[in-house]
This record gives sequence, structure tokens and C-alpha cells, in this order.
Amino acid sequence: MKRFAVIGHPVAHSLSPRIHAAFARDTGIDMEYVAIDAPDFDAALAAFAGDGANVTLPHKQRAALACAVLSDRAQRAGAVNTLTRHTHGWHGDNTDGAGLVRDLTSRNQLDLRQRRTLLLGAGGGSRGVAPALLDAGIGDLYIVNRNSARADALADALGEPARVHSRYLADLPSLGEFDLLINATSAGHETLFPILPMSLIGPRTTAVDLSYGAAAIGFVSWARAGGCREVIDGLGMLVEQAAESFAIWHGVRPDTDAIYAELRAVDAGLVSAD
Ligand code: NDP
Repeated sequence: MKRFAVIGHPVAHSLSPRIHAAFARDTGIDMEYVAIDAPDFDAALAAFAGDGANVTLPHKQRAALACAVLSDRAQRAGAVNTLTRHTHGWHGDNTDGAGLVRDLTSRNQLDLRQRRTLLLGAGGGSRGVAPALLDAGIGDLYIVNRNSARADALADALGEPARVHSRYLADLPSLGEFDLLINATSAGHETLFPILPMSLIGPRTTAVDLSYGAAAIGFVSWARAGGCREVIDGLGMLVEQAAESFAIWHGVRPDTDAIYAELRAVDAGLVSAD
């Protein structure tokens, strides 16, 4: 039996084992997928004897350094969320961007072209989604991060100075309205979500949180209170990026609708988590 894992810290909240188990059941593939809580990523990867792994916060940039080979999109992101074992070392890929764009354009039927976009955060998640958003045709992309040097580094890495701009947190009130607001911070995992200015929201704004479940409550509530036209959490992206990883490992892309509906029902409190 092939063995897979998601490696992160903390990782207890991860729905990836449940999603991959559902994909395996639906496609008739025999495999094991577990969560590994790893404060030290390198040590956890060295001890892992499986065939492939997903990598989640805060280790995606660290994972890129552990790879013998990087896909184009992982290289562009400087971050890896999918590791595949090969005889000469780990192959790293990043399915976050494809997962987000598929959820927004396919499940939510959004046209991303020319959207003036604000990306909050510059960690591994932001690095994964930024190149895919640019490829999907968004307009200007503003990146704001608590640590401004990381926002600058991401903007530089994207290599499109005419379209990508990094700004300070203190600039937020003067940036005007956005067509697309994306929260890619992990702030929702803490007790209080940082206060954001309502001036970011206009009548055409779509707000997207990469977080899901309890971690999305702060941003999603703020976006709803501000009158955003659509408010989308990260559950759909989670399922889509998982399907992309599954396809890399098993050569078949599973259907995502059933597990998405199941997890959405749990999230809405309609059925229990078990
Ligand atoms: P990282 O640890 O790599 O980055 C965390 C980011 O959040 C950094 O930009 C950090 O800023 C910022 N941040 C953390 N706390 C605060 C705070 N209190 N106020 C402001 N900014 C803060 O995490 P990831 O990028 O991997 O993940 C970010 C979020 O996105 C997580 O909630 C994760 O679950 C979610 N995610 C969801 C996915 C999905 O499939 N739905 C896929 C990927 C991510 P700084 O640099 O200043 O520390």
C-alpha cells in the first residue's frame, strides 16, 4: 500500500486525510494518508518513509529547499505543497494556485480578468496563489503583509513590476476599493482577526479567505458586514488543491463535488464531523 501524509504545524485541524481518503474510496485506490504534526520540517521529512506528502503552514517555503526537482509553478512560487518521492530525491510541486483558480472560476463561476486585487499575506499560501492569479488575468495586484520585507520579496519574485505592487499595512486605508480581496494570512487561527478598513470594499468586491472553518470566521464576517458581493472561504480551494495533488500521485483526477458537499455540511453544522 502506498503511504502519504500532510506535514504541518499545527496540523490537527487539517481536513486533508479525510479528503484523500474519500478520493481513494471513489477511485478504488488503496493508500494510507495521515497527518504529521512537525515543528521541525526537515526532521519530519527525514523520518517520513512514504511515497508523497502535502506540506502546509508554516513549512511550504522550507519544503521548496528540500527538493531535488521543482515544477515550474513551484519554482515561481518559491513554495511547495506537494512532494513526490523519486529515486534521486523529492519532486516539489505547488497545487494551491490551480486549486484556488479552479474553485473561483469553476465552482463559483467568477471571471477574474482585470480584477484589481489585494492579497493580504506573503507566506507560503500567498506564494502559491499569486502566480496563478496573474496567469488567470487579474489586473493590478497589491500585496500587503505584516512583515513588509516578505511582501517586497514576493512582489520582486513575481517579476511583473508594472502589475504587482507591495504596500505597507499602514497604507491600507488609502488604497481604495478592490474587485478581489484575498486573505492569505493565518491571522484567523489567532483569537482576534486584525481590523481592516471598510474602504477596501465596494459594491463589486468579491472577498476570498484561503482559511476555512473557524479560522475564516473573522475575515468572512468582516467581508459580509462590509457588503461584499460574494464572500468565499477556502474550503473549495482546499478540495481542489487536494485533487490536483491526488492526480500527481495517482494519475487520476478525482471528482470533488461529493466531498466538498460533505465538508460544507459539516462546516454549516448540518452534520457532525465524524
Ligand atoms: P504561513 O505561515 O506561510 O504565512 C502566514 C501569513 O500570515 C504570513 O504572511 C504572516 O505574516 C501572516 N500573519 C500571521 N498572523 C498574522 C496576524 N496576526 N496579522 C497579520 N498577518 C498575520 O501560512 P500559509 O501562507 O501557508 O497559510 C496562510 C493561511 O492560508 C492559513 O490559514 C492556511 O490554512 C490557509 N491556506 C489554505 C489553503 C486552502 O487550500 N484552503 C492553502 C494554503 C493556505 P508575517 O509574514 O508578517 O508573519
